[in-house]
Amino acid sequence: MPSSVQHSDTKKERRYHGIPASRGIVFGKAKVIHNDLISEYEEHISSNQIPFELNRFAQAVQKSEQQFNNIIQLSKNEFPSMSHILETYSMILSDSFMHEAIRNKIKEGYSAENAIFHNFNAQKHFFLLTKDPILSERAVDFDHVSSQLLSALRKKTISHEVDEQSIVFATSITPADIMTFKQEHCKGFVTEIGGIASHASILARSLSMTSIIGINDIVHKVKTGDSIIIDGNEGLVIVNPTKKTQSTYHKKTEREAKLREELGELSHIASDTKRGTHITISANIDSISDIEEAIGNGAQGIGLLRTEFQIARYGRIPDEQTQVDWYSSCAQKVYPEWCTIRVFDIGSDKFAEGLPSESNPALGVRGIRYLLKRKDVLKTQMRAILKASSSKNIKLMLPMITNVSEVLQAKEVFEECRQELTNEGIRFDQFMPFGIMIETPAAGLEIRSFFKHCDFFSIGTNDLTQYLLAADRINEHVAEIYDIFHPAVFGFIRKIVKVCKTAGKDVSICGEIAGFPDATNKLIHMGIRNISISPPLIAGIKNKVINNTKD
Ligand code: PEP
Ligand code: MG
Repeated sequence: MPSSVQHSDTKKERRYHGIPASRGIVFGKAKVIHNDLISEYEEHISSNQIPFELNRFAQAVQKSEQQFNNIIQLSKNEFPSMSHILETYSMILSDSFMHEAIRNKIKEGYSAENAIFHNFNAQKHFFLLTKDPILSERAVDFDHVSSQLLSALRKKTISHEVDEQSIVFATSITPADIMTFKQEHCKGFVTEIGGIASHASILARSLSMTSIIGINDIVHKVKTGDSIIIDGNEGLVIVNPTKKTQSTYHKKTEREAKLREELGELSHIASDTKRGTHITISANIDSISDIEEAIGNGAQGIGLLRTEFQIARYGRIPDEQTQVDWYSSCAQKVYPEWCTIRVFDIGSDKFAEGLPSESNPALGVRGIRYLLKRKDVLKTQMRAILKASSSKNIKLMLPMITNVSEVLQAKEVFEECRQELTNEGIRFDQFMPFGIMIETPAAGLEIRSFFKHCDFFSIGTNDLTQYLLAADRINEHVAEIYDIFHPAVFGFIRKIVKVCKTAGKDVSICGEIAGFPDATNKLIHMGIRNISISPPLIAGIKNKVINNTKD
């Protein structure tokens, strides 16, 4: 049945495709949560209701504070980096100016809901209008805190509604909700909106909670109590699975568990093919906790450090010293292996909430395009990367390159940073390798023109696929066209590898394709010798490598 079909009461199996945000396969019962709490409330109250309404507001604040505190405590133990974000929510919630403004509105005759909605909305718009895109991204925090207050006001907190059987379906979900879900042992969640790089998705992955995002109108296609399977590996939601589907999925989960056990033993074995060719498997890292997992799984260094995830962690672009500490710590953890640091890839599906709206964000101001408009941001980051490089195992990489001129401009900023640090007497790696992502067709087709400016190339097939096939990587309506196994994608990779090899240039792959066991032999056969993948996939790919006979 096509995914556009609306919910019906039939018990027929239905399937919906979304974006896999956090891996795993789970079975459970749907818990549908409608976030439109604001839709049914009295806008105005009479003067004799004012004391009652002020009291409701005070109680909602108190209850929300309690809830945030509980979650912050929990996150401190289980996921320390997330507590920064939650503390930001708590600060917004306890802002006395905001309280005063809301109380004044109530005294003017607004209901508590209306007063909260108006004041939070005004703050949100104030942030949205700021010139700084990152600052304006903070507007979403106001949404999260106001939904928390509104739900507390209506005694409808999500935490009271889930249990260990629940798979939550909601329009959107906040990190605070996810911490609550974790506490209640809820199995996973599915949302209509959110990017794979949203705070919620980062947290879901770090807490290993299976989740799928980006399924349009899913809250109206599923009913509370429906029997559900979610497949976070494929981004698939199955409603009312038949006996046959259930049995297929039970077998899949058994196979996965068995494989995980077997593969755990591979972490110390070299990733050499049967003919002795070494394939370097490094890790794509979003947070510091991924590094521990990567090392545990036998990763040879970091092939892609997605630094933009730090923006989510701190709720803003971290200052130079914070960045130095983070990069140094990553580089030290994998020393003497390489740590490839990609400068902020902001925009499109990543941290785009507050960026000026564009009709085609994936074709708009993202990656290097953003950084060249905000050279101050690029410069701070490059200084931090250089400062962290004295151990000489850091490489610097630029995302979303289309033209050589972008590399040259970025190198000018890099040179300025080097000069400044030299003048300041700060030691850094004078020979730090400088490379780019190949994720636009133009960069791939013209790769030779980059040779004299770059030391290495990393093929980002996630974006390359979307630009080659003209299919948005986060749009569920073209998910079938966005096919990472499309022959055009493989053909393109083959050509890039060939040209690089002939010129003796270092080339690797860090897109998702490298994490698919079905692609491993093909990629090795094309000449790929370096791949970077997400940590949980390392053992499975190594298993393919050591059984490969045709390199
Ligand atoms: C890619 O595009 O393949 C890639 C690795 O980068 P990201 O997924 O972070 O855009
Ligand atoms: Mg990319």
